[in-house]
Amino acid sequence: MYIDKIIKNIVFRLFVTSTVEGSRNNPVILSFDDGPIQKVTPKIIEILRENNVKAIFFVVGSNACAHKEILQAAVDSGNELGNHSYSHREEKNFSILGYYQDIMRCQKTVYDITGKKMKYFRPPFGKISFKTLVASRLAGLKIMMWTVDCKDWSCSTEAEAGIVAERIQQEARAGDIVLLHDGGKFILEILTRLFAR
Ligand SMILES: [Zn+2]
Repeated sequence: MYIDKIIKNIVFRLFVTSTVEGSRNNPVILSFDDGPIQKVTPKIIEILRENNVKAIFFVVGSNACAHKEILQAAVDSGNELGNHSYSHREEKNFSILGYYQDIMRCQKTVYDITGKKMKYFRPPFGKISFKTLVASRLAGLKIMMWTVDCKDWSCSTEAEAGIVAERIQQEARAGDIVLLHDGGKFILEILTRLFAR
């Protein structure tokens, strides 16, 4: 319905950002969800560094806790960190208060390790609801979704990784936010191909 659409737009403008502060006219923003993941995330950081690209890592608090040195390495290379909850559980498993606490636990974990106060929250599974909006606002965080999703996680062959890299290049424009995942099986191939062109 039309009214629904208007309300949804207002909600998005108030709570959800599709750009990083100061990113207007800047290049495409790569965002990586679900890390840090051992063996993969350090290689992502390395590829970004080699290509002089900064990204935002939406980290899961429990993974950050398990891989403190990788989290710190992401920061040391000039990347930004975003909050992707502590447990990466769906909001339906929580009360508003419980969901808020899960967000804050991630916030505290990252702060304790790196001294960084994250500004953005990306809800697990991209699920936006009244609960996620209220809880993230209470936590003082702005929700950041993405504008380009090339289903990086669904790649099962190198050829598909090439297709994803190509699609990102075709679709992403300045200021766009590309959704990627540390845990995607072919994420390193996608990045290598993305920067090889
Ligand atoms: Zn996730």
